[in-house]
Amino acid sequence: MCGSHAANGTAIDHHHDPVTGRRVDQSVRHPLSRRAFLGGMGKGVAAMAVVTPMFLAACSSDDDSQSGQVSSSTTSDPTSAPDTTGASPTTTSQARSTTTASTETTASAEPAAAGLEPVTWARANLGFVSAYVLVRGNTAAIVDTGVSGSANAIGETLATLGLNYSDVAHVILTHNHADHAGSIDAVLGEAINATAYAGEADLGPLPSDIVGLVGGEDIFGFEMLPTPGHTAGHMAVIDHQAGLLVAGDAIFSEGGVPIEGPSQFFSDVPQSRDSIRVMAALTYNTLLISHGEPIESGADAAVATLAASF
Ligand SMILES: [Zn+2]
Ligand SMILES: [Zn+2]
Repeated sequence: MCGSHAANGTAIDHHHDPVTGRRVDQSVRHPLSRRAFLGGMGKGVAAMAVVTPMFLAACSSDDDSQSGQVSSSTTSDPTSAPDTTGASPTTTSQARSTTTASTETTASAEPAAAGLEPVTWARANLGFVSAYVLVRGNTAAIVDTGVSGSANAIGETLATLGLNYSDVAHVILTHNHADHAGSIDAVLGEAINATAYAGEADLGPLPSDIVGLVGGEDIFGFEMLPTPGHTAGHMAVIDHQAGLLVAGDAIFSEGGVPIEGPSQFFSDVPQSRDSIRVMAALTYNTLLISHGEPIESGADAAVATLAASF
């Protein structure tokens, strides 16, 4: 019962991805023009952690319904140069070598300086919660896996982008709640080339083969952003170059406006507000949210307004 927001029946209309030429199902698309440079942020190797299995804390739901509705958008940055980073921070990554993800090295280059292929994102609207697929070239990262039983719907979202689970190099869990990690085993069973990650402090109830994150890691050109408060190990995902922030449950939305989630589902509300203040100080246009609609324009200013309301 983490999310109080009703499923959104986002209409699907068809367009062609200007980058790949593939047809994608989209609700909205727009190029992201804002760019921000990540000054001095660590791009270090992710901390490794191996923890015992078992599952799942609060913010869960027994709602296994899955609409399978998807929407997507291209976050094109026309000035982007070809990807030269996109490296996995792990030494155990099984991700394939592709033109868009050089998976053999630790991240060292500055993404903004080196340039990355534009990101295309797609939303798997799973009912009261959403998962997201982020794509560069022909390689995908999945952020969150929905409740148990969501793997097929996420696979359908990949298909709208012309991809399948074998194209998934990374599965990032924003946190360990059952409406986000509920299908992790099923997703990893399909995404056999993928490495999975979650915040180190959230690893306890998760499967043992998930790599712990402390924040600052670069995965696939995305910076892992520690955003504790909803859970202790909550991670948001930001692409500074594309101006795209995936906030998980650190920010909800309602009526196109970012809001705080219900406090009863947060482990530490003051800490969560600090995390929102951190996100309010960053630059991005698009905000992808787990409970509520994505905000696809001027999202940073809207989050700043939220932070100023505390
Ligand atoms: Zn949630
Ligand atoms: Zn949650």
